[in-house]
Amino acid sequence: MSGCDDLITLAKSCGFTEASCLDVSTLEFLPEVREMCASGKCEKFGRSWSCPPAAPSLENMRDTVKKYSKGLIVQTVGQLEDSYDYEAMMDAAKNQIENFGRLWDVLEPLYPDLYPMSTGGCSKCKQCTYPDSPCRFPRRMAYSMEACGSSSVRFARTMGRSIITGQTL
Ligand code: SF4
Repeated sequence: MSGCDDLITLAKSCGFTEASCLDVSTLEFLPEVREMCASGKCEKFGRSWSCPPAAPSLENMRDTVKKYSKGLIVQTVGQLEDSYDYEAMMDAAKNQIENFGRLWDVLEPLYPDLYPMSTGGCSKCKQCTYPDSPCRFPRRMAYSMEACGSSSVRFARTMGRSIITGQTL
């Protein structure tokens, strides 16, 4: 498997609503995005090996990501009754995690060096071991995109979509 269209088809077969190939050289590594992690709005800050302050520094993550030329962006769209439809938001988040795991299972044997990143950090375990003991599954940890200075809103725009107050349009 090598073509962008093949990867998009594969991502959709794993349950994603949308997928798009990414030229990694276009990525921005913005300190202000990473700094937002510390605002306390995200429950993962200081609670996951995949997120600041435990995640590698922005510079370190940028050096790692820049070794790659191609990327794949994936998105799960949920149907919300309104902007406060928390249940539907949680359903969409659960679907995204499940789709992500399925795609990872398929891609890992094909691309053993792949570098998965996830909005809001790793969700593999119900309760992360941070900081009391080492990560249970270091080879299945997905670092937070935001720790890398990348914003999910910008990624959505790359796909011709926008995310507004919890709704993905
Ligand atoms: S795999 Fe588990 S222990 Fe490791 S970062 Fe993810 S949630 Fe935490």
